[in-house]
Amino acid sequence: AKEQGRNRYHLYTSSMDEQALQRLTMENDLRRALQNGEFLLYYQPKINITSGRIVCFEALVRWQHPEIGLVSPNQFIPLAEDIGLIVPLGQWVLRAACRQNKSWQEMNYPPMRVAVNFSPKQFLQPMMVNMVEQVLAEEDMDPRWLEMEVTENVMLQNVDKTIDTLNRLNNLGIHISIDDFGTGYSSLSYIKKLPIQTLKIDQSFVSDIDTNKDDAAIATAVINMARSLRLNVIAEGVETVEQLKMLSDLDCQEMQGYLFSKPVSAEEVTHLLKSTEWPYLAMG
Ligand code: C2E
Ligand code: CA
Ligand code: CA
Ligand code: CA
Repeated sequence: AKEQGRNRYHLYTSSMDEQALQRLTMENDLRRALQNGEFLLYYQPKINITSGRIVCFEALVRWQHPEIGLVSPNQFIPLAEDIGLIVPLGQWVLRAACRQNKSWQEMNYPPMRVAVNFSPKQFLQPMMVNMVEQVLAEEDMDPRWLEMEVTENVMLQNVDKTIDTLNRLNNLGIHISIDDFGTGYSSLSYIKKLPIQTLKIDQSFVSDIDTNKDDAAIATAVINMARSLRLNVIAEGVETVEQLKMLSDLDCQEMQGYLFSKPVSAEEVTHLLKSTEWPYLAMG
């Protein structure tokens, strides 16, 4: 409702106070959430469109807040980064994802990777590689079934150190993907030097690929560049058959998006694995 000008200031300040209070409450809740076991993982498949196979599941964290309900990561990951909680939370995510993947393997599903997102702050932790190695050992998971998704922004701090860290992860056999590719600050000359396996085309270029010439040009450039650097390329945020067609005409082999599946619970993953036929993929 519209208020008179006089009251507007009041409304404004009180809502600012409310925002600050809300942030503080959320901060406290978030600190407790890890001990209380309130986080859970959803999984979204990555599909090889030629074979129709699921090659990987990306783990995406959610927060089951006791009063608010399911909170999406965009609403708490930035805060978790600000207060440093991202480090223990990230370790929890890694462990839970590895444990889940291991259990799918023990159920005799065809082996797939599980992908875990690492924000730059997590990635740049001094003992990060040791932590990853330890979690893999403790969960008894072969490193080649782990994929790490990092953004180009990990290179903003120290390129040489980042390359060194990526090399160490690569030597363990971990698959590295550059997430949200095209939206960050990396220069193309770095990409050539990076020991990585996959470029992930950001969904902002995918969503209008069939209507916006600029987006189509960027997607085309990324796909061609990946090919000439002998990197895999995957498109994220694929929602329509038109987008799928355009991308497959450009010879993009892997895709992820609502067209195939939204992120789902671990239980729903087993249903996906049992009965997956993607109707719009012409196979043969
Ligand atoms: P992201 O890594 O770029 O993940 C893709 C996001 O797009 C996910 O949102 C996913 O649910 C959504 N998405 C997938 N397919 C489609 C589609 O076809 N259309 C549209 N419109 N959206 C699609 P979500 O799960 O809310 O995650 C948001 C972001 O939160 C992630 O973006 C990632 O940056 C961050 N995040 C999620 N889990 C973790 C985590 O465990 N650790 C860290 N550090 N960050 C995480
Ligand atoms: Ca991601
Ligand atoms: Ca992404
Ligand atoms: Ca994103």
